[in-house]
Amino acid sequence: MTDHVHPHTHPHDHVHPHAPGPMLDRRAMLRAGGLGLGAILLAACRSTGSVASTTTGAGSADTIASLTTLPGFDAFADTVRAFVEGDYWLVESNGMPTHNAMVGIVSWQQQVPLPQPYTGANAWRFPTTPAMANTPISARTGLFRGAIAIAVDGVPIFNALNNRGDDAFLAGELDEWGGHSGRADDYHYHVAPLYLEEIVGAGKPIAYALDGYPIYGSTEPDGSPVATLDEYNGHVGADGTYHYHGTTTYPYINGGLVGVANATDQVEPQPITRAFREAGSPLKGAVITGFSSPSTDSYRLEYSLGGTLGAVDYTVQGSSVAFTFTAPDGTVTKETYTR
Ligand SMILES: [Zn+2]
Ligand SMILES: [Zn+2]
Repeated sequence: MTDHVHPHTHPHDHVHPHAPGPMLDRRAMLRAGGLGLGAILLAACRSTGSVASTTTGAGSADTIASLTTLPGFDAFADTVRAFVEGDYWLVESNGMPTHNAMVGIVSWQQQVPLPQPYTGANAWRFPTTPAMANTPISARTGLFRGAIAIAVDGVPIFNALNNRGDDAFLAGELDEWGGHSGRADDYHYHVAPLYLEEIVGAGKPIAYALDGYPIYGSTEPDGSPVATLDEYNGHVGADGTYHYHGTTTYPYINGGLVGVANATDQVEPQPITRAFREAGSPLKGAVITGFSSPSTDSYRLEYSLGGTLGAVDYTVQGSSVAFTFTAPDGTVTKETYTR
């Protein structure tokens, strides 16, 4: 087993495959409807009760967390569970995207989306009553490690700049949804998942920053156009409280944390990812062309390399994952990993 605190590196030799836009359009959003990639681990332990025990729900050994609904997250109640515990919301998920992730990536490290154990004491956590910090933390100069927000589909959101300070979206590292898988095969976004706005419905957040302030999409909660934003992509709303917005240009997501948070380069505490295998290396020239779930817990990622197709088929079973790699030259390799 290897614990990672999202140490993913991004390739240095960036290309600029696409201008902002493709991941944000309705076409991409509508594609989400056909796939049911989530609901893997959480369905099995979903509780209908109001109190989660420390063995099945979020929370540490000496606290009781109560299952609750949280605006936005309620749209993904089948795969994401929200709890309240003292002054914190806790969110449990397996971090798996519910859409055809990875498609469109032209700078691929050969990682794929695999379930992560964001449950129990390893759940996402942010304040129920956020408060403005005396000194905001800018994502231009910090917060390069770990997540800075959690989307309502249970997928974490990282700094829009990669750890070399480059814009991950412009670098071609992201799929049409603004995400990719890190070195622990942990799927995450680097920009705002604006397509979630239509799924959650009007007036609801698409994500929460880890300082506790909600992140809305491309309209105000009341449906009006977004008012002027500060350098952190936020402002005080009509209700007198601060919130952020997702945008189609930098900073895309919360441009830092204006609220009180225990953070320097990384917000602490936050869930750790758990890798099944060693991190991959860049596959130069590869373009990811497809991602599907042929059956429950089984996935197929397809890519093109010099006009020839390759594929990664994999099935997750408990703490193991079985891969079948089909290289563009036809070579088939099978590998199984257990974490
Ligand atoms: Zn990343
Ligand atoms: Zn606003």
